[in-house]
Amino acid sequence: MKTVKIPSQNKTYTIGKIVCLARNYADHIKELGNETPAAPVLFMKPATSVIGDGEAVRIPSYSTECHYEVELAVLIGSEGRNVPVETALQYVAGYGVAIDMTLRDVQNHLKGKGLPWEIAKGFDTACPLSDFVPAEAIADPHALTLKLAVNGEERQNGCSSDMINTIPRIIAHVSSIFTLEPGDILLTGTPSGVGAVVAGDVMTAEIVSVGRITIPVA
Ligand code: MG
Repeated sequence: MKTVKIPSQNKTYTIGKIVCLARNYADHIKELGNETPAAPVLFMKPATSVIGDGEAVRIPSYSTECHYEVELAVLIGSEGRNVPVETALQYVAGYGVAIDMTLRDVQNHLKGKGLPWEIAKGFDTACPLSDFVPAEAIADPHALTLKLAVNGEERQNGCSSDMINTIPRIIAHVSSIFTLEPGDILLTGTPSGVGAVVAGDVMTAEIVSVGRITIPVA
């Protein structure tokens, strides 16, 4: 079973479902040539896709184009259903750094056929994840700098203030469809600058004052 930690509180959570937003930053929507969705576009990754700091991403043999997407991860701390926007942040236990690894060639092929994306997004090692900092330690989760470098070269540098759907809106929307439980994780979308990595590359993903992970590609 996969777990995540809030080390400063000595707390461990068994990971439940990982609900992810696609297209939540305008500049990233533009770079992929997508339309801005009327409602949040959701998909899920299984807990088995999670790896920790220092563990390697393994690109499946059915893809030749594996992209990184640095994202703010939100750890849910209590059960909630139909959570109102006004109280949504009370359900957050902590914040972390995630990379939404995406097989872009496979995703584009599936999208074109109107088929689901799971094999492009949920494969083993597709969700590198840091330890979490407690929610109380982050004064404003919508004022965080997200960065990703490949082999030391900066590729992504964005701010969580540019999210289209804010964290309370995401929690309200997701919890109107799926009951949220402690250990569930929300990935809140990526800013622009996504691109491919190949075996031998090393990714460093950082959210300032939240955390940093170093993830090699095997
Ligand atoms: Mg993403």
